[in-house]
Amino acid sequence: MASDDLRIDSLLVHADRHVRGPSGDVTPPIHPTSTFAATDRALAAAATTPRNSGVYTRYGNPNHDEVAAVVARLEGTEAAMPLASGMAAISTTALALLDPGDHVVLQRGVYGGTATLATGLLARMGITHTAVDQADIAAWDAAIGPSTRLVLIETPSNPRVGITDIAAVSAHAHAHGAIVAVDSTFASPIHQRPFEHGADLVLHSATKYLGGHSDLIAGIVAGPDDLLGRIWETAIVTGGTLGPIDAWLLLRGLRTLGIRMARHSANAAAVAAALHAHPAVARVDHPSLPSDPGHAVAQRQMTGGFGGVLAFDVSDATTAERVIDGMRLAQRAVSLGGVESLVVRPAAMWPAGTDDDALERAGITAGLIRLAVGVEDPDDLVADVVSAVDRGTTSAPGRTDH
Ligand SMILES: *Cc1c(COP(=O)(O)O)cnc(C)c1O
Repeated sequence: MASDDLRIDSLLVHADRHVRGPSGDVTPPIHPTSTFAATDRALAAAATTPRNSGVYTRYGNPNHDEVAAVVARLEGTEAAMPLASGMAAISTTALALLDPGDHVVLQRGVYGGTATLATGLLARMGITHTAVDQADIAAWDAAIGPSTRLVLIETPSNPRVGITDIAAVSAHAHAHGAIVAVDSTFASPIHQRPFEHGADLVLHSATKYLGGHSDLIAGIVAGPDDLLGRIWETAIVTGGTLGPIDAWLLLRGLRTLGIRMARHSANAAAVAAALHAHPAVARVDHPSLPSDPGHAVAQRQMTGGFGGVLAFDVSDATTAERVIDGMRLAQRAVSLGGVESLVVRPAAMWPAGTDDDALERAGITAGLIRLAVGVEDPDDLVADVVSAVDRGTTSAPGRTDH
């Protein structure tokens, strides 16, 4: 099917048709097989053919091909590859591209697993890193040096929804010969296509918006064929293979990504505006707010919305816990990107004993609440969150009458 002229919502539904088998099923079949009957010649070619989907599922599977076809079209990249989790996508990319002695530049306040990858596994392999303020382009520039092989951006970031200027950082990185990877999980390709802004690789936790229903764990790497070939060579030895059933479920989720993101983002903007106007809320982070420090850059590099995650500060941990307890719709749970609203107090998720300075540097205050806004009715959501803040910030300590 010629799809060059199609827009995103059509591609989500049709971009995999050319990689489908001849069965004619309108809904692609699941290929729950570990192995495929193949000729000796095909078997011999398998070891050198990236994402080969006719030999053994760790090397590739038709359900992977369908997901990859849709995501590559959305991101505007030559290729894409699903993996078993967002962390599999990030760690496999790092392991594929980095050698001992190499240097990585990333930002403070990234997803916790990414921070731990840099300080743990990569450090043990002799790979150093520098973490910078994501909004400070001069700091990125200063940190990127001759041994910098990989620059890892996360925008919007977790949990403060901060914005990094992808084009500016990519230009500095490329001047030093470094590869730029962008964790675009919070935006999804509906709102942000990092490849169009100069990034080399796009990473997703497909567990979040791409899957969209909190019912699977998956990751994506998208980029040019040469880099994807190297990452695939690492993936087949590290083995973070996405199961065919989960790949099928991910494809099912992708079909509605456009309409879901529009609702997530509109809902989050409405909740952010209501919180911004609330006298008991000290600070609201969402790029939709004109007062947000990331607003101008986000307006340049994002389209159609700013994602469904927002963060806000009430005075202290006890108040934040009361506000969260008072929410009827949002459930207290990690993760984001599903149809249901979820809420956490990020400071409570850090290991006991993490010093306050380290948390403050990552932007995580005791009274910070991260709300991943779902696709519920916007008026219900705004009313619920505002009422939880009203009651949570006026209750005398110890009262439990709500
Ligand atoms: C959840 C998340 C990850 C990790 O993804 P998993 O699918 O849980 O492995 C990475 N980056 C960001 C921004 C995330 O939100």
